[in-house]
Parts: sequence; structure tokens; C-alpha cells
Amino acid sequence: MGEYTKILQNLEFLNISTDEFTIFEWKPPRSYKSFILDLNIVKQNLASNIFFHIFKGNMKIVHIRINDLIYTAGSNNTVQFQLLEALIEKVSIEFNMKFDVESYITFGNFSTTMFNSFNKNIEAIIADFNELGIVKELKVPCMVCNTVLSIIVKKSFIENAESYPVPLVYMHNGHAILCFIDKNYDIRGVELVNITG
Ligand SMILES: [Zn+2]
Repeated sequence: MGEYTKILQNLEFLNISTDEFTIFEWKPPRSYKSFILDLNIVKQNLASNIFFHIFKGNMKIVHIRINDLIYTAGSNNTVQFQLLEALIEKVSIEFNMKFDVESYITFGNFSTTMFNSFNKNIEAIIADFNELGIVKELKVPCMVCNTVLSIIVKKSFIENAESYPVPLVYMHNGHAILCFIDKNYDIRGVELVNITG
């Protein structure tokens, strides 16, 4: 089992919904927690094609709306947001490859049980995550912590960037650094940034 596979053991749920209802949900074995309230909050966000992050107690929730579907992943707070984003990107591609979801939704004539077999795909994505090569771990020094941090970035984030170096903010322990990453995943600079919100 690879390193990311181990990190992804902290995943609490993965949900695919329309605006009306859940069409697919994966949870770890023996998890009976419900995330309906979180999903209701997620659905109120109408912006498409942008990843949103929510901190909730010791959970992290990432969601994105793509076409008619809302993809949401939740984990405990040991998992970095970019890893959850990479997972959702992979899941959305595979889900749409396996099922012609858009046309099911357009015609409204389907049963969500037909998506149950996708559980096997999720288990495989988690088990093979290291081999998928969709994330990279970067070593970035933090001048506040005086240590070198391991920051996980999605390859799609670097590869699809419009210009380089790409800025990325990493929040941790109550402060944040801004690092600049070039095409080759080398760190071109690190700054301490102020945060408000
Ligand atoms: Zn630090």
C-alpha cells in the first residue's frame, strides 16, 4: 500500500449529487455517519468549476459543481485539500466514463442503484493512488516553523497554469506561506503572507 493510499484512509465520505438528491455515496466500511447537513450547505453554492474548501470541526470538506453534478469529499483534517481535489478530479472523470450520467439526468429515468458498482472504482482509485501519478509532494521551508513542510499539489494545477511560477498558499498552524512553483515543480520562492477573512 502506498503513502497516499494510507493518507486516504482518513477519508470520511465521497458524494455525488444532483441538486435534488444523492446519486452515489461512498463511505469507509462500518461508517454510519451522515453528512446530509454538510451536503445541503454545499448545494447552496451555485458556482461551477471551482473547488471550494470548508473547515468543519476536525473535518475538511472539498466540493465542486461540474455540469449537473456536485462532487463532495470529506476527510479528517490530516488530509491536504489538494489531495482531496485530485481525488475528486479522478473520481469525476471515471464516473462520467463509466456512466452516461448527463443523459440519465436529462431523461430523468434512472435508479441510483445502478451506480452502486462504482464503489469498486473508488476502492481501486484509493488503492492505486500512488501509481496514478496525479499529485506530487513538494518540500517547502517555512521560516516561522523553522522546518521543511511536505506540501501536496495536484499535477493538473501546475500543468494547467496560465503562467509560471504558480502561487500557492499553504495554511498551517495558524499562519500561511505563499510559495511559487515552477513548471518543473521547483520552489522559486517562499513568503510569509498575512491572512484575513
Ligand atoms: Zn509554518
